[in-house]
Amino acid sequence: MRVNPDRPTTPAKPLSHLTNADLHCHSTVSDGTLEPEAIAERAAANGVELWALTDHDEVGGQHRARDAAHARGMAYLTGTEVSVTFADETVHIIGLGFDPDDAALREGLARTRGGREERAREMAAGLAQVGIHGAFEGALQYVSNPELISRTHFARFLVERGHCADTGEVFRRFLTNGKPGYVPHKWARLGEAVGWIRGAGGVAVIAHPARYSRFTPTMEYALFTEFVAHGGQGVEVITGSHTAADSLKYADVALEFGLCASRGSDFHSPLESRTDLGTLPDLPGRLTPVWQMLAGRVQWPTAAPREHASA
Ligand code: AMP
Ligand code: MN
Ligand code: MN
Ligand code: MN
Repeated sequence: MRVNPDRPTTPAKPLSHLTNADLHCHSTVSDGTLEPEAIAERAAANGVELWALTDHDEVGGQHRARDAAHARGMAYLTGTEVSVTFADETVHIIGLGFDPDDAALREGLARTRGGREERAREMAAGLAQVGIHGAFEGALQYVSNPELISRTHFARFLVERGHCADTGEVFRRFLTNGKPGYVPHKWARLGEAVGWIRGAGGVAVIAHPARYSRFTPTMEYALFTEFVAHGGQGVEVITGSHTAADSLKYADVALEFGLCASRGSDFHSPLESRTDLGTLPDLPGRLTPVWQMLAGRVQWPTAAPREHASA
């Protein structure tokens, strides 16, 4: 690869809790609507300084994302969002700063993706029972990665067909627990997900904790306790899913459990996402940013040949 001598080899600006970091978003490699390069473009235009692409159960976009970040002068952390089943609920665990070529991580994620097609066929059968036909094929039209058919793709199809006004309504009426297109699914175990991420040199982070509204306070306490016991080290405090009150609550939880804090929009699409890349509130100064813990894993735009850069 050609070396650009003008590229800085050291950070232009030190990392702090005020760094505009966006460490949660999705591309066409999972259920986002933009290619990794287009997200990088949008993130850079919005002032993001440190970016991670965190596709669901996938690391297939990581090299493209890193190259696109560097081409726009942004620092990059590798990322993924692992689907986990904990106490019969789906919990999402973000992995950051891992080696994307780690064999055990890749194998674990492939296994986690494995049941999606069969689940999708069952979802389509459930929807057919309420008169919505052809949903499997319809959802597939929105899928770029055949291993990653998700509820989001079904939601886009149902909106296209006029069954609902927006994807949020589709989830409420058709795709959540007890609704016709909902199929319970066993994802990875919490300890597996944390283990894959840590084994690949990364940090595991509980994503959007306020979204697990079916958990009692006891179950939430169990989630955080077991997460820490497995080696988890972070929690998303500032996310597109949180109200200001949620962020305050989980800032306290981070301190209580000795976790560092992450910040990410969970951006999926210009048309669907309420929170755009890089437009979140700052991380509270009393918390330790996850990017401080991961300082040695941040990939700066650099003159070093990319093939040999560490992950
Ligand atoms: P899946 O992994 O197939 O279960 O799909 C989960 C994805 O569905 C999440 O990552 C979100 O992108 C999306 N999602 C979940 N709940 C909602 C909701 N209420 N409104 C819109 N999108 C949602
Ligand atoms: Mn998603
Ligand atoms: Mn999530
Ligand atoms: Mn997400």
